[in-house]
Amino acid sequence: MITKEQKSWLPWLIGLFLVFGFVMIYFLYPWLRTRVGRAGKLRQWLQNPAAHPGWAVQDGTTCGTAPFIFPTRGYIGFIWGDSFTPGIRHQGIDIFGGEIPGKTPVLAVTQGYLTRLPGWKSSVIIRIPADPLNPGRQIWAYYTHMADQNGSSYISPQYPPGTYEVLVNAGTFLGYQGDYSGEPQNPVGVHLHFSIVLDDGKGGFTNELKIENTLDPSPYLGLMLDAAKNPNGIITCDNQAQQ
Ligand SMILES: [Zn+2]
Repeated sequence: MITKEQKSWLPWLIGLFLVFGFVMIYFLYPWLRTRVGRAGKLRQWLQNPAAHPGWAVQDGTTCGTAPFIFPTRGYIGFIWGDSFTPGIRHQGIDIFGGEIPGKTPVLAVTQGYLTRLPGWKSSVIIRIPADPLNPGRQIWAYYTHMADQNGSSYISPQYPPGTYEVLVNAGTFLGYQGDYSGEPQNPVGVHLHFSIVLDDGKGGFTNELKIENTLDPSPYLGLMLDAAKNPNGIITCDNQAQQ
């Protein structure tokens, strides 16, 4: 039974509930999903990668008919749209090799033209003149964290700082996974961050730090890598086949 008094409070309660729901859905839920669900699984992997061989993807392989090969081996710990800070979403995917820094190779996902800006210690970007899924446009593949915690680079000596537009092929060796964060006292876990970045329309790349400037990498790698659609699964080709 709802009394008259309770009835007058009902719209307020519903309003409060809606506001709470909105905050949950847009800010707290993606953050909790990342911080608790996804990070928990990653901890399990990092504690003992050998115990979970089926959780890893392998560099140089593809899932199904995907146009890109996997750029490195390891467990895909975080995906596109995950949230490390409420309200801010992750622009790419993070693949954790489960090995020491400087050990796990990183490869080009497809053919393109590699640039490493003069100041880049741990990053390269590869221009892909024709998006394989939308050949009318140019896109960019961005790779980072390829340095040790002090910024000593693990990028192949073939691509020193200031490298501009060097042709690479699918599978070309680029460097090794590292843990460089920009702050030596505060390294990240050893991984590769990989993202697909939009062109600025003038032949340059847009700011990768904004998710709006990046593409959902799912169709390029043949996996469900959109956090909103894959809240908490272990992400491997086999898993994908079962869905
Ligand atoms: Zn990342």
